[in-house]
Amino acid sequence: MSEKLHTKVLIIGSGPAGYTAAVYAARSNLSPILVLGLQPGGQLTITTEVENYPGFADPIQGPWLMEQMKAQAENVGTKTMHDIVTDVDFNSKPFKAKLDSGSEITADTIIISTGAKARWLGLPSEEKFQNMGVSACATCDGFFFRNKRVAVIGGGNSAVEEALFLANLCEKVTLVHRRDELRAEKIMQQRLFDNPKIEILWDNEVEEILGVEVGQGDNPGVTGLRTKNNKTGDITETDLEGVFVAIGHDPATSLFKDKLEMDAEGYLITAPDSTATNIPGVYAAGDVKDKIYRQAVTAAGMGCMAALEADKYIANLEANNQQNEAAE
Ligand code: NAP
Repeated sequence: MSEKLHTKVLIIGSGPAGYTAAVYAARSNLSPILVLGLQPGGQLTITTEVENYPGFADPIQGPWLMEQMKAQAENVGTKTMHDIVTDVDFNSKPFKAKLDSGSEITADTIIISTGAKARWLGLPSEEKFQNMGVSACATCDGFFFRNKRVAVIGGGNSAVEEALFLANLCEKVTLVHRRDELRAEKIMQQRLFDNPKIEILWDNEVEEILGVEVGQGDNPGVTGLRTKNNKTGDITETDLEGVFVAIGHDPATSLFKDKLEMDAEGYLITAPDSTATNIPGVYAAGDVKDKIYRQAVTAAGMGCMAALEADKYIANLEANNQQNEAAE
């Protein structure tokens, strides 16, 4: 059923940034509407154990954490909608959003928290062993590979940072890069080259992630990596327990192309120490604007900032409207 609604705060996207913005906006009496999007709960719904979200002494499950965030947002007064925003108009005041169901929402402010998706190599074995040795986040999952052998795939800042982070925890780290030079900053490269625990496989592409499938042995999970040198054709098999794919992320910003300022990689640009985009009243929080930290807790923090900034904007808007009415 399509509806026509108005809200003071429209939140697009339902990861930790969106839900936290909703909690804060609802508790400021702003009655936010949160449109859940294609993958309600975001990236945490495709992870298993979460050990680094503060407040839980024991590991929790990612999907459970997101259910709790949704329930918390709803319990304090957020209206959540199982729908997808298909178009936004930032030129009108209030702003307008069209939804896939045919519903239309007008909004005084909009908080964008549509997140980003990790890029994957696209190998069937990579999908088969996801959460069983294959990960796209060393900060999240590295701890599970203490004193084990791992590989990191990629040659950018993320791959080098992840390799250095993992070298502090793991027995050995093999960085696999498809070319003979890295894209990462030079200072990061030097740290990588200087680390005795890190070996680099240049000009190598992943052919297969090797492992024991569920039901096929006592210890299912990753056991190795087969790579191919794209110059010589040589095949290398490396014994290891974990593979971290760090070949970049894609922020979910196609909806905002030519409407909001974004960088060359499509991340929304916000003012320093703020979630404000180049359009007053439109805010961006979480991975959609952050290519450095990419953590649930940092996304949640930015969601809080966005709601507080939206609250202030609305208070000014209402004060101006009252002044204009008094003047008439
Ligand atoms: P990136 O810079 O796009 O690097 C991706 C890397 O993965 C490249 O080395 C690329 O190889 C490789 N790659 C891409 N597709 C591949 C495939 N299908 N198979 C094998 N390798 C593949 O991504 P990122 O490292 O995630 O960085 C993204 C942005 O965030 C950058 O602007 C980066 O500077 C920034 N960042 C900043 C920080 C920081 O400031 N602390 C930390 C992390 C990221 P080629 O080199 O051959 O293209």
